[in-house]
Amino acid sequence: MNNPPQGYDKRRFQNCTSEDFDCNICTEVAKLPKQCQKCKKCFCGQCIDDWLKKSNQCPLRCERQHINNTFADKNLQKQYQNLNLKCVYCSQVFSIKIIEEHERECSLPKCQNFINCNNRIDANSGNSQLTKIDICSPECQFFLNILNHSSNQRNLYKEISNFMQRYYPNIDGNNGQIQSQQLAATKVTMPQPSLQNPFNMVFGSYNLTWDPNYIGSQIQIKNENFVLLKEQAYIFRSALTKQSFSQGIHYWEIEPDEKSENEMKIGVSLKNNFDFNTAFCDHQFGYAYYGIGQLRSGNNAQGQSYGMKFKSQGVLGVHLNMNLGTLSFALNGQFFGIAFSDNKLKQGPIYPAVAMLHCAGCKITYKSNIPPYFPK
Ligand SMILES: [Zn+2]
Ligand SMILES: [Zn+2]
Ligand SMILES: [Zn+2]
Ligand SMILES: [Zn+2]
Repeated sequence: MNNPPQGYDKRRFQNCTSEDFDCNICTEVAKLPKQCQKCKKCFCGQCIDDWLKKSNQCPLRCERQHINNTFADKNLQKQYQNLNLKCVYCSQVFSIKIIEEHERECSLPKCQNFINCNNRIDANSGNSQLTKIDICSPECQFFLNILNHSSNQRNLYKEISNFMQRYYPNIDGNNGQIQSQQLAATKVTMPQPSLQNPFNMVFGSYNLTWDPNYIGSQIQIKNENFVLLKEQAYIFRSALTKQSFSQGIHYWEIEPDEKSENEMKIGVSLKNNFDFNTAFCDHQFGYAYYGIGQLRSGNNAQGQSYGMKFKSQGVLGVHLNMNLGTLSFALNGQFFGIAFSDNKLKQGPIYPAVAMLHCAGCKITYKSNIPPYFPK
């Protein structure tokens, strides 16, 4: 008999002083009320339904058939419908007719951009990955990213550019002939600035550093060559180095943070202007070894088996041979074989990249001594 009261706490009402609506079972103001025509007592629909499972009479011993599905008295019915009460979540006052519906919605978490979009996240709607991070839509994600960058025009431009590429990918693609013809008149591709920044080159070695402009949100750069992600969400986010390669043979090593809980996707990206809150290798321009022992390129869900597992222990070697167009990996000195062989890997710019999920981190270091087992 210790069920929580079914009805509404009277203190939530502004205008309910009468006892006419009190449920005779739980004593609160009746919810979805039913009334006994004979004794005139009213009850929450649920309270009396439960009661009648155990008894054939109303609590005041009238017969079952006297119980009416609503108020027998039309006037009382009207008064009931005029009641207003506070929402238990937001304390705003609503009509008793819509309070249930409002509270169902009001109990859902707010979009991070709620003050502008007024949307809530309904986890049951099963709608996309976005719901996991309390952002209701791509528009809101975009808007929030833009707010973060509102003081920096270059980053602002980058956000817009990323958004356009992600959601209107055809504009530059083969299918968007009309748009691309229109754009062709105005869009001039500037030559990339000197890719192998001489200031980063020290005796044939590069100082690889993560670029704060080329990382997903939530990723932190600790020291220049160490990135860390630690968050609630389960979304792959990418990080690229500031430096890229335009030719030659390059080798670098990835050392995972030993507290990494999730395998990383490690490799190279041919672009530095995509949505960094995706894995670079979800896209055709990304090539990666995924620490679960698989390859990824142009696919966020599958790829062929490759190498061994790698998460929080060991050193992963990454070898890019732009003369051959190959990308290869080795773990703790054990060569995994050529992962990718593609003419696109002969042409720069090519950026070292990692994608991390939920809780992971790593350090990147360029090495000028290339182990002998990599393809020459
Ligand atoms: Zn009740
Ligand atoms: Zn009765
Ligand atoms: Zn509310
Ligand atoms: Zn929103």
